[in-house]
Amino acid sequence: MRRLVLFDIDGTLIRPIGIGRRSIEGAFTSVYGTNDVFAGYGFHGRTDPDIIDEGIRRANGRAEDHDRLLNAYLDNLAREVAVAPSLLLPGVRDVLDGLAARPDVILGLVTGNVRRGADIKLRKDGIHEYFRVGAYGCDSRHRGELVLKARDEAARIGHAPIDPRDVVMIGDTENDVSAARYGRAVAVAVATGGCTRETLAALDPDHLFETMDPASAFLEAILP
Ligand SMILES: [Mg+2]
Repeated sequence: MRRLVLFDIDGTLIRPIGIGRRSIEGAFTSVYGTNDVFAGYGFHGRTDPDIIDEGIRRANGRAEDHDRLLNAYLDNLAREVAVAPSLLLPGVRDVLDGLAARPDVILGLVTGNVRRGADIKLRKDGIHEYFRVGAYGCDSRHRGELVLKARDEAARIGHAPIDPRDVVMIGDTENDVSAARYGRAVAVAVATGGCTRETLAALDPDHLFETMDPASAFLEAILP
């Protein structure tokens, strides 16, 4: 039996220290000369393409500017990440090592980041190599569809279908919990990012953790 463990990135694997937000805001400043396009708008749990479209709408820009803004964002991101300290959240490396040691487990990503953005963030701490499947914000704007896409990809790798109940989706926002539900996966919430423990508890995920540390307790709970 194969199991698939899927991770969100921001606030789940890496610390939410505002680098992504700053990099997108910087892209709008360089392209439109505006500074406060995103005032009052939360980025947590949204896909990069959605955030950029929202910014274009707020700036009264043109839809054709999307790719230019996206590329400016990714250039800013690469620069910011290069000078930042380690981005890893507590327990993450041990959890990934623990999962990678299990021959029945495939690791994957389900994230609102576009592929290049995800790669920039994960390479910082060298954890990009753990993930064999990935569904990104550039693949679909619907996070639930991303869970299904990752499951299909894992089935191709393992040459056998994966039962939805053998899929675990780990994330830090309401959107991750609903995406897990949409894919009939096990929903695991961690309060290390965009939502408080109380907000996440109200969604009744299958498991809820303050952090992934200690990794042994986390792993025992999600893959009994
Ligand atoms: Mg997140």
